Amino acid sequence: AGWTANSSLAANHLDFDYEKEPTLSDINFKIHGYTKVGIVGRSGSGKSTLLNLIGGWLQPTNAKELPFTVGNQKVDSLAQAEWQQHISYIPQDPYIFSGSIAENIAFYKPDASIAAIKTAAEKAGLTNFLTELKAGLDTKIGEGGRGISGGQAQRIALARALLDQKRNILLLDEPTAHLDIETEYELKQTMLPLFKNHLVIFATHRLHWMNDMDYVLVMENGKLVEQGNPTNL
Ligand code: ATP
Ligand code: MG
Repeated sequence: AGWTANSSLAANHLDFDYEKEPTLSDINFKIHGYTKVGIVGRSGSGKSTLLNLIGGWLQPTNAKELPFTVGNQKVDSLAQAEWQQHISYIPQDPYIFSGSIAENIAFYKPDASIAAIKTAAEKAGLTNFLTELKAGLDTKIGEGGRGISGGQAQRIALARALLDQKRNILLLDEPTAHLDIETEYELKQTMLPLFKNHLVIFATHRLHWMNDMDYVLVMENGKLVEQGNPTNL
């Protein structure tokens, strides 16, 4: 059925340990529809871990099932593959494989048209970079190809997310970590409006993003210490 304006996702007493020490403990929240959710907290507080649990790439330690519910439904291991089909994920260091830029952008949607790939690339702010390249979108990158910067990799990942609008849960992990402040602001102006009909969950330690969020989860040492509308925090 997918994620709709009426969907909700709840974490119920979520615990997670990589090793003996608890990394996340007793996380509880409920988020709805097309909310823009910020996860903030210092380095090591557990933001990336929480995103990975939400995406189902890590399993919580306190339950065999994912202790998440979507609407009234538990997202268990069977439902997980289906759940992941609705998710676009932009990690701190996006995955770039050996292939052309176009192929990398079409990662979630290999049958996309060149015109659609081009539009996504433009929206993600890749135009300047592409015009510098003789082969443009056909330029080979990744292993055996041209090297690209962290910021370029993040824009390619953003274009990927833009191309497949059916995936309307967007998980972003410090998507602007490799960008300078000016480029970051530029991207901020263009990015959020493009994901109006998405649940966006955005992990960052840059607090200025919080003013653009509807709901904020504040992490500290693996605990969710505050949550709510940013103007009330
Ligand atoms: P940052 O802002 O630096 O990205 P973060 O808030 O995303 O930090 P996490 O990456 O979720 O934090 O890490 C939370 C804790 O878990 C940290 O103490 C970290 O050292 C630990 N940790 C992260 N990944 C692993 C791993 N693969 N194995 C063991 N411990 C890990
Ligand atoms: Mg992180």
